Amino acid sequence: MVEPELKPPAAREAMITDAVAVLAPVVSHLEAAGVTVRTADDGAKEDDVLRAAKGIPVLITGFLPFGSKELNELEGTELIVRAGIGYDSIDVAAATEAGIWVANVPDFCVDEVADHTMLLLLAAARRLPEAMNFWREQSHWAVNAQLPEMHRTKGRTLGLIGFGRIGRAVAIRAQAFGWKILVYDPYLPPDVVAACGATSVGLDDLALRSDAISLHCPLNDDTQHLVDATFLEHVKGGATIVNTGRGGLVDLDALDAAVGAGDVAYAALDVLDGEPDPDLAHPLLQRPNVLVTSHSGWRSVDAVAELAAKSAEQAVQFFDGQIPTNVLNPQARQ
Ligand code: NAD
Repeated sequence: MVEPELKPPAAREAMITDAVAVLAPVVSHLEAAGVTVRTADDGAKEDDVLRAAKGIPVLITGFLPFGSKELNELEGTELIVRAGIGYDSIDVAAATEAGIWVANVPDFCVDEVADHTMLLLLAAARRLPEAMNFWREQSHWAVNAQLPEMHRTKGRTLGLIGFGRIGRAVAIRAQAFGWKILVYDPYLPPDVVAACGATSVGLDDLALRSDAISLHCPLNDDTQHLVDATFLEHVKGGATIVNTGRGGLVDLDALDAAVGAGDVAYAALDVLDGEPDPDLAHPLLQRPNVLVTSHSGWRSVDAVAELAAKSAEQAVQFFDGQIPTNVLNPQARQ
């Protein structure tokens, strides 16, 4: 029996605020631990959710934004569990001010996102959409189908921006295909990167030297539109840009201009600026050399199950008087 570190809340009550279908399995985990769970109505308005959340100590959230305004409207919330890796939807500094812990689930879909990144990298390298469209649109089977220029991936250079769990999992996979790996991650000493068989470089150097660039850093004030017109000016001609990180990392207008000018040969995006409601009519998304998946990089039956168990675990630790393992701002309640 682990001794409680903190006085647990009087009520073992939690609320699922959104993404109700995906997070449904969280309910049974919590109920098995004696927690009463309320679930927001699917698609409920944010104001209604915040009103319903009043007095509930633990909120489990998918993509509902918690900026300072929303956080200040909460009453009695002690912990918000972001059921996912990225926590850019929550203003953690404001939560700290408000005395609310924020926890995430940092390790539930690393392999899925790394696999998805490889899928996008290889689909771009092998011009998968064009190869499929050729015979469908031409009703003609041709061994020498007219496809855009392709290059062998073995021996080419992949630049990874962000080298945490997912970036490293991508590196292992890409190395097996023969890619050389450059890394820009200002928070990692070069020897940590070198130990993974990769080379630590500055951002401009990465842009200049990489045949493909893949984004794996968090979205925050420093990384918003990290891929903008200035960055794209430095990119090696004919490069591929892959984004399975967060939509806000890439300025879609700037990328559209770079693809239109032929400076970027291919873009493959799992995430789009403006989520959860991106502009699907954006000209970039209509281009034949742009491949888009609908934020599905994280998904698998296994990842959904792990996400539910690990999200619930954070809440149960809290109800049992422990500091949840993945709290991002422990100082908020000490
Ligand atoms: P992580 O925390 O393990 O790694 C992030 C890395 O980015 C860290 O090494 C950090 O030092 C680095 N970093 C921070 N600021 C940086 C900057 N300004 N420039 C370059 N690097 C910087 O996170 P992870 O598990 O590897 O996940 C990465 C991102 O992937 C998440 O933040 C999330 O937004 C995204 N994600 C997407 C999906 C999806 O379905 N597409 C699923 C899960 C996660």
